[in-house]
Amino acid sequence: MSTPTTRTVRRGLGAGLRATSKVLPEHARAHNRSLVLQHLFHEGPTSRADLARATSLTRVTISDLVNVLLAEGLVEELGVQPGRRVGKPAILVGMRTDAYQIVAVDLSDDAVMRGAVMTLTGEAVVRRSLPVAGHVGDELVDLLTRFARTLISAATRPVIGVGVGSPGVVDGAGRVVEAPNRQWTDLPLAAILTDRLALPVHVANDANSAALGEYTYGGAADSMLVLTVGQGVGAGVMVDGSRVHGAADAAGELGHVTVVEDGEQCACGRRGCLETVLAAPALRRAVAGLDPAAADEALAGVGRTLGAALAPVVGALNLGEVLLSGPADLLDGALRSAALQTLTDRTMPATAAGLRLRMATLDEDVVLAGAAVLVLAAQLGVS
Ligand SMILES: [Zn+2]
Repeated sequence: MSTPTTRTVRRGLGAGLRATSKVLPEHARAHNRSLVLQHLFHEGPTSRADLARATSLTRVTISDLVNVLLAEGLVEELGVQPGRRVGKPAILVGMRTDAYQIVAVDLSDDAVMRGAVMTLTGEAVVRRSLPVAGHVGDELVDLLTRFARTLISAATRPVIGVGVGSPGVVDGAGRVVEAPNRQWTDLPLAAILTDRLALPVHVANDANSAALGEYTYGGAADSMLVLTVGQGVGAGVMVDGSRVHGAADAAGELGHVTVVEDGEQCACGRRGCLETVLAAPALRRAVAGLDPAAADEALAGVGRTLGAALAPVVGALNLGEVLLSGPADLLDGALRSAALQTLTDRTMPATAAGLRLRMATLDEDVVLAGAAVLVLAAQLGVS
């Protein structure tokens, strides 16, 4: 079976846009295009007339846009809308979510790189992993390049882009400002990989990627926080459906907020950070050798600390949900209920009434899914 090359895809996507460039400036066309794709992605097959109503664009604009998207192979006509008895039958248009694929890489684990080829709806169709084997700095960038190439060549459809969830602080352009454990400082990772792979590459912090993944594919609330608990503790925040970046691109760094005065030494050089009590290794140490009741009491104690740390964040942003992503045997029990109780006790009834504190739904694929959303949002305007 022959598949079009990625080069063909990119030319196809660009050429389609240029074909209708007579009237509207490019940014307006791109905006309209993403309105249509966003609607089809979330609402499913829709007639041109209903697309016009849903997007407030004219019938002519919708018709032109659909023709372009048909030519690009991003949408298809799906036959006649059932149930209509009068007038011209309306043909449904649907997004071809299986026509293209996305390559996603999760760098959150110190020991192993995880990657997948994903459909536009976030299903992994090919999975690969590669031991990091102590590589850091430029060597790690080289290893990541090779890993991404193997994933791209394993794709069964044209690839529209590559998404990477990386530890550390990552700016909006995909530059890793600092990721000490990877020995990356001020590294333009997205630009380097875009150049080497000849595909659009988008990079974001791993916990921020997790938030995007849960938002787009996991059905999370519009205003929510995903707390990732592994070797470290990170968080990604969405407010009113948008990812929060912050003044220095470090929004969500809740793991290094002090929660224990003169507590244990933290990897960041300070003492008593949330990470020192909530990271998975710390939780395992806290329950080691305890009987189930004592283990639950220890986990509840950490849950109360977590609830106290989350309360001002939840209160200030009026979050609807907090999602915990990490080992369920440690998080999804006494720890979670104690954290919710503390959160409820420490926030206004209006804030706490509808608040949910639950486990994330995408398990260990959450960063990969979010890395795919980075590409989906940047290349197609869908999130
Ligand atoms: Zn710290």
